[in-house]
Amino acid sequence: MTEVTVKRLSAADADFDATLDRLLAWEDSVDHQVNESVRHILQAVRTRGDAALLEFTSKFDQVDAASVAELEISAERLQQALDKIPADQREALEKAAERIRSYHERQNAGSWQYEEDDGTVLGQKVTALDRAGLYVPGGKAAYPSSVLMNAIPAKVAGVGEVVMVVPTPGGTVNELVLAAACIAGVDRVFTLGGAQAVAALAYGTETVPPVDKIVGPGNIFVATAKREVFGTVGIDMIAGPSEILVICDGQTDPDWIAMDLFSQAEHDEQAQSILVSPDGDFLDKVETSIRKLLPTLERAEIIAKSVSDRAALIQVEDLAEAAKVSNRIAPEHLELSVADPEALLPSIRHAGAIFMGRYTAEALGDYCAGPNHVLPTSGTARFSSPLGVYDFQKRSSIIGFSAEGADRMGRVASVLARGEGLTAHARSAEYRVKS
Ligand code: NAD
Repeated sequence: MTEVTVKRLSAADADFDATLDRLLAWEDSVDHQVNESVRHILQAVRTRGDAALLEFTSKFDQVDAASVAELEISAERLQQALDKIPADQREALEKAAERIRSYHERQNAGSWQYEEDDGTVLGQKVTALDRAGLYVPGGKAAYPSSVLMNAIPAKVAGVGEVVMVVPTPGGTVNELVLAAACIAGVDRVFTLGGAQAVAALAYGTETVPPVDKIVGPGNIFVATAKREVFGTVGIDMIAGPSEILVICDGQTDPDWIAMDLFSQAEHDEQAQSILVSPDGDFLDKVETSIRKLLPTLERAEIIAKSVSDRAALIQVEDLAEAAKVSNRIAPEHLELSVADPEALLPSIRHAGAIFMGRYTAEALGDYCAGPNHVLPTSGTARFSSPLGVYDFQKRSSIIGFSAEGADRMGRVASVLARGEGLTAHARSAEYRVKS
């Protein structure tokens, strides 16, 4: 029998704020040994390219290849994977891809310009990245849904080339991951992983082309490498453990809520699941459901540790206070399991994704609802957003003065430049001012 403890808190307690702070605290462990080994790997790939990639791939993934070209998976092989996976899996991947594409197409903001009375034109030009790199984890498990969620927005954004890397420990290739890459339209796939794959994407080697931005989750070696190469390339984010916060009015089936909490807890032992409700009896019922359902799950051990260490059932006065607690936490996933989620929505200020109403299980968002499942964690929803088309595009300002505009604004620039003591700036503007 798996032991589990369930913390109960009340927002009315004098020490609630301090208790909540302790519950949320999560140390992104800095391991000096990992840092050192990642720096060594990055440097080796940067200076010795393909040769270093082959050595690390042999050492960490037990794959021996004569050249990095051998580690590239052809478009035909991707198509074969798609053709041979079970029909229900193919259908599910294709359905999910279609919905993810359709949602992200709506994010595609175009360029714009406007003209002033004197003919001056100002605007913003949106350009997709030339090349994006997608890291797909493959050490302990495989994540075809991650392929869709990262690659489709890049393609919708108009990225010229999407290069995917995925480790194949012991040479085992995951057919679903390849099939997902085929559906998403990934351009090139290399069976490389860890810090060495990140280095190859950031710096380029004889065979792997350098990219402009690297997206996608990974273990501590991948995350540390992404941090290190930031600046040479862009990165999406460094994700912390997964989180869910459920606000419930007490009228949803407690088994549903318990399973929603488990759906994040099963990711890993550091994942966080929190339930907030004004109904104390309902919190009792969910606790009973947790104890009843836990033993029925494959990942019961992981869930028990995650729930015991980092979960909490929090009683609040009313739904307005529930929203306040939620905003303070700024959760990655927020379920509004209440009768009228639209009425509560205006009070929600910080959350990665908001799941509206009792029927919207967070798990649907993980796979096939359409919005991205790469979301800000650890309270970063206060200042950042889900992965989207905008992450694969950048903006250039457009400035075009007419002769009249240059005369009018040249005078202003001249005054400001002289105030800053920048004479060349001032004279450059003054040349265009009519005397
Ligand atoms: P991974 O692909 O991230 O890592 C495997 C690679 O790690 C190997 O190829 C190897 O090169 C490298 N490595 C292993 N041991 C090493 C060592 N001692 N020294 C140097 N390099 C070493 O796969 P994983 O390990 O299964 O981790 C996947 C991670 O991705 C998990 O932490 C999981 O939680 C996370 N994840 C997050 C999300 C999300 O959306 N946040 C989604 C999927 C996965």
